[in-house]
Amino acid sequence: MTQPTLRRVEWARLEGQRPRHAGRNARLDNHGTTVRPGIARLTTSDGHIGIGFSRAPRTAAEQILGQPLAALFDPDAGATALGQPFDCALWDLAAKQAGKPVYALAAEMMSKAVPAALRVPCYDTSLYIDDLHLAEEQAAAALIAQEAQTGWEQGHRAFKVKVGRGSRHMELEAGTRRDIAVIRAVRAAVGPDATLMIDANNGYNLNLTKRVLAETAECRLHWVEEPFHEDRVLYDDLRAWMQVAGIQTLIADGEGDASPSLLAWAEAGVIDVVQYDIFSYGFTPWLHLGQRLDGLHAQSAPHHYGAHVGNYVAPHLAAAIGRFGFVEWDEAATPGLIPSGYRIDEGQVVVPDRPGFGFDLDEVVFERAVDENGYRLP
Ligand SMILES: [Mg+2]
Repeated sequence: MTQPTLRRVEWARLEGQRPRHAGRNARLDNHGTTVRPGIARLTTSDGHIGIGFSRAPRTAAEQILGQPLAALFDPDAGATALGQPFDCALWDLAAKQAGKPVYALAAEMMSKAVPAALRVPCYDTSLYIDDLHLAEEQAAAALIAQEAQTGWEQGHRAFKVKVGRGSRHMELEAGTRRDIAVIRAVRAAVGPDATLMIDANNGYNLNLTKRVLAETAECRLHWVEEPFHEDRVLYDDLRAWMQVAGIQTLIADGEGDASPSLLAWAEAGVIDVVQYDIFSYGFTPWLHLGQRLDGLHAQSAPHHYGAHVGNYVAPHLAAAIGRFGFVEWDEAATPGLIPSGYRIDEGQVVVPDRPGFGFDLDEVVFERAVDENGYRLP
């Protein structure tokens, strides 16, 4: 039998909108409302189609065009080095060929039981620093609490709050006090049972981290993310201090540079949650990394903010990774991208039981985007 080959590669950047403007984080200016996921569509010589997030340039597409599928996707390991720029589209393709959701294929590949139905914990990642126009601390805290309330109404039960206002956008003391007021207000708004995390985008230092954790101890923060740049000495100190202070908050890091040091620190118990970006690092590498992190008793919680499609990709890792933490949920709607069956219910992503990643493309919108800003080969 002749091996199927890759007959066509199309790529385009789609454009979608968040329902609410996203403000700043500790270091960056406004994130705005627009999301622009890059989407690849692969077609094989025997008519199978795979779609998925990709940032691959035309030159990467030229490398894979005409290649046998076996050179791009290994049924025992996922995308090959050659296929990596089209990792997600290849997973979608392989899963559709098998007539299974990606999560089922991934679980089988990692010798895990395939769940009958998949629901994965997620958190509302939309609580940015949106309050800088407000002079009063209490008004600022009320605004972010109201945003959390909106998330609650959409089904979220876990919330990540951006902090580090005093790093760049506000005077240090006023910004830190406002961070603390915001955390307390959000906890009051979402109630004692919700999960609450903070993300400082490296905008704190060790002492500020201790201060904020101490002053919000009654808020029982689930994790502190990127309090400062990865530093083993400072993390050891923070860890020892938390133990004495009786603070159970986890330490999460890794979205920025996917630092390999984090794995050694996870092994040493200094880092609890690893957050390499799902697209920069890749779905296939994450699948294998998750097995290592399981062995180190560390949690997997891939970052993907800004690319929208990660909402529908990250949950598929959860069936294959024992210590999968949370999907980061960046609510948006992107015309052309049809995520049929995905929904948020009681703090979990309900993943559709459809072949592949379970989202479709609107033909007209995608073709137009390919014409306007993408490429098609041949
Ligand atoms: Mg982050």
